[in-house]
Amino acid sequence: MTASKQPSAAGGPAPRAAQSAAPRPPAAVGAAAASRLADEELYERSIGEPEDYWSERAAAALSWDTPWERVVDCDFAAGSASPSYAGWFAGGKLNAAYNCIDRHVAGGLGERRSLVFAAADGGIEEFTYADLLAATTRFANVLKSRGVVAGDRVILYLPMIPELPIAMLACARLGAVHAVVFAGFSSQALGARIDAWGARVVVTSEAGWRGGPAPGLKGEVDRALAAGSSVETVVVVARRADGDEDHARLVAGRDLWWHEAVAAAGMAAPCACEPLAATAPLFILSTSGSAGAPKGVVHAVGGYLLYAAETFRHVFAPGEGDVHFCAADIGWITGHTYLVYGPLAVGATTLLYEGAPGRPQPDRLADLIVSQGVTSLYTTPAVVHAFTAAGRGWAAAHPMPGVKIVATVGDPLSSEAWDWCRSQFGAGCPVLDTWWQTETGGILLTPWRSETGEPLAGSRPYFGVAPLVLRNDGRPADVLERGNLCLAQPWPGMMTGIWCDADNVARFRASYFARFPGLYYTGDQAYIDEDGRFHIEGSSDDDVWVLGERLSSVEVERALLSDAKVVETAVVGCPDPVKGEGICCYVVLRDDVEPSDALREKLAQHVGEVIGPFAVPDRVHFVAALPRTRSGKMIRRILRKIAEGDPTDLGDTTMLADPSIVTDLVHETRPQTTQAEARR
Ligand code: AMP
Repeated sequence: MTASKQPSAAGGPAPRAAQSAAPRPPAAVGAAAASRLADEELYERSIGEPEDYWSERAAAALSWDTPWERVVDCDFAAGSASPSYAGWFAGGKLNAAYNCIDRHVAGGLGERRSLVFAAADGGIEEFTYADLLAATTRFANVLKSRGVVAGDRVILYLPMIPELPIAMLACARLGAVHAVVFAGFSSQALGARIDAWGARVVVTSEAGWRGGPAPGLKGEVDRALAAGSSVETVVVVARRADGDEDHARLVAGRDLWWHEAVAAAGMAAPCACEPLAATAPLFILSTSGSAGAPKGVVHAVGGYLLYAAETFRHVFAPGEGDVHFCAADIGWITGHTYLVYGPLAVGATTLLYEGAPGRPQPDRLADLIVSQGVTSLYTTPAVVHAFTAAGRGWAAAHPMPGVKIVATVGDPLSSEAWDWCRSQFGAGCPVLDTWWQTETGGILLTPWRSETGEPLAGSRPYFGVAPLVLRNDGRPADVLERGNLCLAQPWPGMMTGIWCDADNVARFRASYFARFPGLYYTGDQAYIDEDGRFHIEGSSDDDVWVLGERLSSVEVERALLSDAKVVETAVVGCPDPVKGEGICCYVVLRDDVEPSDALREKLAQHVGEVIGPFAVPDRVHFVAALPRTRSGKMIRRILRKIAEGDPTDLGDTTMLADPSIVTDLVHETRPQTTQAEARR
């Protein structure tokens, strides 16, 4: 794609039907062609008869206490103020914990491994489905004994330890709404969420582990609650950081130790799974905050669980004895859907790793993948880049042949990273670049399993998903023309609202349905190629305006990554007295490459050659790491602020996997003769 001019504001009615996203007839032959044809037919049907399609899937994939009366009550095209929404499977009742645990045990899979926990110190702890049932029952009884009932909010401020999924499923068992708050957040960020969501209970730990010990979690909770709150109970997991001599102090009447509470008399008694309305909230989760103030996105029991199970099964195709590893933190939606709910809903084995991916070095992750027999991996391009940065020698010493499927999310996957995955993991291992959002609950765009994907080949919509790309005036973009990615039909994993106050519905509509009435607006830019495949060009907020031309930062990043010396990069706009906005590139080089001014200039020229002279970057900063959350999401707003020369007000940086890298970024962004100035 080349940069497009700002689309004209020419009129024309907004389309109401999905652009033809249906793929063209397959070129492949034999079994592959047959399976591709089957996918195409299924896709057509899922779009043409969505109620029948999802009804069949819901009946096949989940166990229901009460059948639903209506498949979907969500009409995007209900008028300009759209949509009327209640969600999926209204009238139906089910329980997510029952579907993720009890029914597998009842079906004879009690001895199958559900959760494998890899602790930061190298220890491994395994839970069968029967173990998970016992553990969640005990903790559900603890919550019940503290007065928790269906609808109450429970904040889970925990590191990546088994107590986190156990607490999630215990809440789900009772119908309490869990809200996982990433354990890297400060007391201030935690307090804001506790207040906004009116939590009754907080579950925390003495300490966490994020690439190194993160002591004082309990202290953050105490500070967050100091000014008074709705919280009546704090449950604390006894897990100290190395070197911490003393246990955290408990507040009498409010706090209890997890281990004492679950061991108390009566806690092993059966605890029935509450049959919940399919449209009832299962959890609240903030969007990653990459765009500023967090929103409490709400996902409902029935639609979310179905979509998690279905997309997990389609993308990762779990088989007997397989082990799935999602390297994302459960504090983000990827961990919710593809570490916890998706795998457990289908009875798979899921690996939970306590440390941060790639830390202290990529060996840890590679060793884990091999030693635990991981067969499917869900990660981010950033993690793959950390692998590639370690060099060819490292790669030769760390083959991971047991991995049969790799998928990534969060950023576009470069063709170099794709090639690397193909050579490093199992023979013929599909490498799938998936796209979705916190709001969508699960994967919306992915190469189909009937096609293994080629580097940068783009993705198909998952079944029942109707994406389209529009110009700013609402008319469909042409083939290869970049535009706004929208969704024309509801899908079960869709959020059901934003948790806040009486303005919930209004805020929901304004955020997602006002820009293109009758359609869900994703906020991302994309184009469709000649084969009907979708290519994501990043968020609209990430565009850089250069002399009136709109340039996607992803496009510049892709050009930089095509130089083998570059491991990772992020591109943002920066003030430029001549052009209005200039192009500022943050570049992480391979370990064995020396940064130099000559290389800076060479990379800048390379971008100009790939995209066009107007796109030659103004600044190239070599840095050791980029500001990413632990789930690998880039926080560009921090880079933008630094590039603007305003590092004093970076906002909350506690969501970063390593907040200390900010100092390096600020230092490296010190005034330099810009590439453009040097050439002038
Ligand atoms: P979040 O909801 O915070 O997890 O972030 C979702 C956003 O991440 C999307 O709206 C995209 O901007 C970005 N994103 C996710 N997956 C991809 C991908 N495969 N390629 C490019 N951007 C992606």
